[in-house]
Amino acid sequence: MNEHQDHDYIADRDQALHLEPEMRTMPREVRNVLHPVQMNDQSRFCFRCHPEIACFNACCAHIEIILTPYDMLRLRKRLNLTADEFLYQYATPYTLTKGQLPVPLIRMDPETGKCPFNTPQGCSVYSDRPVACRYYPIGLALMHKEQTTHNETFYYLVKESYCQGHQETQEWSVEEWRTDQGSDGYDLHNAGWMDLILKRRSAGDEVNTSIKLSEFFYMACTNPEEFRRFVFESTFLQRFDIPEETIEQIRNDDEAMLEFAFDWLKSILFGDKKMAVKPKPQTTPPDTP
Ligand code: SF4
Ligand code: SF4
Repeated sequence: MNEHQDHDYIADRDQALHLEPEMRTMPREVRNVLHPVQMNDQSRFCFRCHPEIACFNACCAHIEIILTPYDMLRLRKRLNLTADEFLYQYATPYTLTKGQLPVPLIRMDPETGKCPFNTPQGCSVYSDRPVACRYYPIGLALMHKEQTTHNETFYYLVKESYCQGHQETQEWSVEEWRTDQGSDGYDLHNAGWMDLILKRRSAGDEVNTSIKLSEFFYMACTNPEEFRRFVFESTFLQRFDIPEETIEQIRNDDEAMLEFAFDWLKSILFGDKKMAVKPKPQTTPPDTP
């Protein structure tokens, strides 16, 4: 079997590095910050991050953090903002190099380079922080295997020179770390979105992502309110065969709306059969003499 070598580092700070911009574009392997060992849930490492550590807050500036749809939902609910308000104040669109799909990044302060949620006391949105911040210093790699329908996950350790947490003696397995940081729950909510990103990358040029489709992708993944308006105020429900139970679920539930959006995007981008198109109504044949 041929492994697809194109790993997708979605839920880590792959681009979240305290380096000059030209250095940030270099692969981590070249910068020598990736510990060159593939890890699994039971792999062990030493790490501790706490307010007394000398580098406290050093990792929350000059970074690029992709916001997953569930990250955004959690953050904007905490901040009591609509999706439009959140995107305007805190996000900037970024197009993934492979796959050409747009995703939001946290917009760093243009003057200080700091994350807008960083304070001298630490992260002001800590219990709702993005999954990339939860995983660090573990990186999550997703790999699509050719000739299979599933993705494979593995982990790796990121050792940036400024981060002193690696010198601490507290030991974890990756599984313990994920549970402690709440990354595992986020992964469940992000699974549909990650699957979409990987499928798009694996499809290469076979899928034509037009500007219009890219705009729909961004809207459906970042703005459940807008996508809800699209579903309920257009001809959508006349065209797609959606069970009544699902219609009721997505009416007010943003998490259900996101799952629904992922299924719809899979249908229109990859012809996935999860969302069936209604048969066209039969037209009465004209009377024959
Ligand atoms: S120990 Fe590492 S993760 Fe913690 S504040 Fe320092 S740089 Fe950031
Ligand atoms: S969201 Fe919080 S943990 Fe993540 S970079 Fe910003 S301040 Fe740091």
